[in-house]
Amino acid sequence: MHKQIHLPLPLLAILQRLQLLWPSPQPVHPQWFNVIAALLLSVQLNQHFIEQIMARVPGQLSLQLNLFLLLPLLNFLLMWLVSLVGVQKSGFLFLAFVGAVSCYFMDSFGVLMDKSMLQNALETDIAEASGLLSGAMFIKVAGLMILPIFLCWWLPVRSQTTKQKLIHTLVSALIWLVITGSVLANGRAELIPFFRNFRDIKHMALPLAPISAAISVSQHWLKELFPTQLTKIGEDAVLPASAHTGKPRLLILVLGETARADHFQLNGYERATNPQLSQLPVVSFRQVYSCGTATAHSVPCMFSLLDQEHYNADLAKNSENVLDVLQRSGVAVKWLDNNSGCKRVCDRVPSKMLFEDKTNPLCHQGQCQDEILLQALRLELAEPLTQDRVLVIHQLGSHGPEYFRRSTDKQKKFLPECTDKQIQFCDVQTIKNAYDNSLIATDELLANVIRTLQQQHDYQAAMLYISDHGESLGENGTYLHGLPYWMAPQAQTHVPMIWWMSEEFEQKQGLSLDCIRESRDTQLSHDYLFHSLLGSFAVQTQVYQPSLDFLQQCRRRSN
Ligand SMILES: [Zn+2]
Repeated sequence: MHKQIHLPLPLLAILQRLQLLWPSPQPVHPQWFNVIAALLLSVQLNQHFIEQIMARVPGQLSLQLNLFLLLPLLNFLLMWLVSLVGVQKSGFLFLAFVGAVSCYFMDSFGVLMDKSMLQNALETDIAEASGLLSGAMFIKVAGLMILPIFLCWWLPVRSQTTKQKLIHTLVSALIWLVITGSVLANGRAELIPFFRNFRDIKHMALPLAPISAAISVSQHWLKELFPTQLTKIGEDAVLPASAHTGKPRLLILVLGETARADHFQLNGYERATNPQLSQLPVVSFRQVYSCGTATAHSVPCMFSLLDQEHYNADLAKNSENVLDVLQRSGVAVKWLDNNSGCKRVCDRVPSKMLFEDKTNPLCHQGQCQDEILLQALRLELAEPLTQDRVLVIHQLGSHGPEYFRRSTDKQKKFLPECTDKQIQFCDVQTIKNAYDNSLIATDELLANVIRTLQQQHDYQAAMLYISDHGESLGENGTYLHGLPYWMAPQAQTHVPMIWWMSEEFEQKQGLSLDCIRESRDTQLSHDYLFHSLLGSFAVQTQVYQPSLDFLQQCRRRSN
C-alpha cells in the first residue's frame, strides 16, 4: 500500500467507501500526478477567472485558448516545484487549500488576491478576522477539498531512485519550457496587450495569485527587517564661484514617455509631427538609445550613476542619483509629475504629483493632459529664485494603449484614430494616426515650454527633452513596449532627445549652438544624462565624467 495521510475518521470512512467503488489504479509516474493535480486545481478553482476572460475578450478564441492553456501550465510549475522539494502530495493539498480559501473570498467579496489584499488580511485583528470566517466559508472550502484529498488518497505515485528522479524532473522541466515557450511565442501579440489592459486578471488565477502575493509580501517584510543604507554619491559636489555667471541658470528637463525617435519629423519622419519645434532653434539628437524598454527600468537608470551595462534596480534604488548631487551642490531641484510617479528618483527632492489633482479640469479619472505640466511650470517660475534651478517635468506623453486620449481635438491632425483598448484589433494605420497625434501634443508642450522660457528674464534658461523608451506600433505583430532589451526592436529603444537654450545661456556657458548642431548624429544613450546635467551647471565632483557629457565638446569654459 502506498503512503497515506492521516485524516479524521468520518472522512476516512467516506474515502474508504469511495475506494471500494473505484479501487486504486497502478502507481503513476510522479510527473503525471503533477499534470493531473495541475488540471484539477485549474478546473476546480478558476470558475471566476474563466468567466472574466470570456466576458472581457468575448469571441477571441485564440486569445482565450492561450489563456486557458497558460493556467494549467503555470499550476504545473507550482506542482513541479513542490514535488522537487519532496512534498508532492502535502504541497498539492496546501495549494488546493490556499486556492479554496481565496476562491471563497473572491466569490463572496469580489476581492482580488493581490499583494495589498494579502497585506490587509495579515494585518487584520482577530475580531475582524472572525467576522469573515463563517459556516459558508467552511462549507465552500470543505467542498473544494474533497477531490484533492480523494486524489491524494486514491492515486498512488511510483517511487523513483534519486537518479531517475533527477533525470525525469529535468526532462519534464524541458518539456514544460518548450510547451510554455511556444504558447507565449504564438500568442505574444495578443497576450501582452491583454495583460496590460486587464492588469487585475492575473490576481484571479488560483492558486497562483495568493502564492505570488505571499512572495511579494514576504519580500517586502524582508526588506523592512533588513533596511539597506542609502549609498551617497558625489559628496564632494560643489558649484565653484566661477560657475556663477550673472543670472542664475534654469534647466527644464522634460522627461518624455513612450516617444520613438523615428516618428519625430525633426529626425526625418515624413509626417509633420513637430510642426512647432521645427520653427524653433532646437537641436534634435538623432542617435539616442534608452537604458530599458519600460518606465520602471529606464527612469531610475537614466538618473543613476550606474550605466546601462551595470544598472541594477536594487542598487539604484538604494543609492543617490544625479538630482541628489545637484541639490547637494546648491542647485534647487524640483520634480513635477504627470506620469505615474518618479520611480523613487525624486524621493529626496521636492516634488508634486499633479495627476492626483481631482479638481483640475485637465484631469479625468486619475489621468491629466500634459498641459497641466505647463500650468505648474508657469506657477513655479512666477516665484523666481536666486539659485540655479532644475525643474523636471515628467510627461504622460504617448502612454498607450489609448494614444487617442493623449491629444486634444485640435491636435488630431491624423485621422481616423484607433480608439480600442485592444489595439491589436485596430488597423495599423489608425494606431499610427493616434500615436502621431500624441507626438503633436508633445511637440506643442515642448514649444510652449520654450516660449515660456523665452519670455522670462530672471534666468539663463535651457531645456532638455528626452524620452524614457520607445513603442512598437504593430510592426511584426508587436505592440506597446517592455520587451527584454536583447530582443526589443529598435522602435522600443531608439528615443528622441532635444536641446534648446537661450542666447544668454549659450554665451554665458561658453557653448556653441553650431557645434551642438553638428554633433546631432553622435551616438548617445541614457548614460549621458547624469553627467550632462552636472556639466550644465559646472558642478565639480569626482563622479562627473566629461566623456559622458554630450555638451562638453561644444563648451569653451575657462574653468
Ligand atoms: Zn515609459
